[in-house]
Amino acid sequence: MALRGLPIVPAPFRGEVLSSWLARLAARYDLRASHLLSHVGCDMPDARALDWCAAPRVDRALARVTGVSVQRLAGMRCGGAEAWLWDRPAPAWCRTCLQADLLAGGETWERRAWRSGATALCDRHGQLLEEACPCCGKRGTGCLFQSQEGRVRAHCATRDKPVSLWRQRPPPGLPWGLCLDPLMARAIAGLQRDLGRSLGGRPLQARWRGVTWAAELPALVGDILLMVVLTLGLRLQAAPPLWWLQQRADWRSDFSFTPAMVPLELAGGVLALAAIMLGDPDRFAVTDGRVAWSPSGIAQERQPCSVERFLAWLDPGVAGWGRRRLAGVGASNRIKGSFSP
Ligand SMILES: [Zn+2]
Ligand SMILES: [Zn+2]
Repeated sequence: MALRGLPIVPAPFRGEVLSSWLARLAARYDLRASHLLSHVGCDMPDARALDWCAAPRVDRALARVTGVSVQRLAGMRCGGAEAWLWDRPAPAWCRTCLQADLLAGGETWERRAWRSGATALCDRHGQLLEEACPCCGKRGTGCLFQSQEGRVRAHCATRDKPVSLWRQRPPPGLPWGLCLDPLMARAIAGLQRDLGRSLGGRPLQARWRGVTWAAELPALVGDILLMVVLTLGLRLQAAPPLWWLQQRADWRSDFSFTPAMVPLELAGGVLALAAIMLGDPDRFAVTDGRVAWSPSGIAQERQPCSVERFLAWLDPGVAGWGRRRLAGVGASNRIKGSFSP
């Protein structure tokens, strides 16, 4: 049965991601977003795929039944299908943003930036995003964004009770003793903004060391992540989206690790390191060893964070590749006389 105009349609929030609005729309009818989509003629088991996958036919059908324009719907996507590996598989959120949602009307909604591994920090509140439900402590359960009595609410799916966002431990911090002060937050926010622009096919706003054209920035950040993961000996079990796999004859050559595939705290640490090492010294004052870190985790061993120190910290099996990969970053450092490979 094809739906005609729906009688109740919540207006999309500014910055809301498409699947979040679909979930809020479906909640009005006590449906899941995928059920609502099947009623408009789109069989998609996970509505979140629409956040990355342009689907003009679905957009037209949704525009017809909701009155929200196809341009508005397209603008609620995170990026193109090429950037799909940056899709964060489970919800992440800024606690302060959700508290504001509760005060504004009680309905929680997901921001477009939170869906992407390019974001680990709320650029409004300067704090790290979270991904573990404050009630049950689990990740990836959909807690905090549950359809309840016609609205999407902060509800724990595991324990089936409302989640309190007011009695929580302090927001998480960055790893390796990196200090999330306003300067650091501004540098990370700048990197996040340009990563998002690159993933969406738009030009960069800032200059980044070792980056000549926009698509190099996500690739370089992905490689820094891989250097960190290999050095720490972490085992990543990254499952590329099925649709992404199906579009490729040889997916391995296109595959790269992204911060969406690691826990948020680690993703935040990698974005911080990348912002420090790649940032334009004139724009982000955290560069050139002005930020201290302690990769060993021992506070007394804090040292300036720079490309050189990062390379020295890497596992010997990765250091050679890291040195070659970051040579372009070091080259601009060398001009300033602060880099001696
Ligand atoms: Zn926030
Ligand atoms: Zn929960």
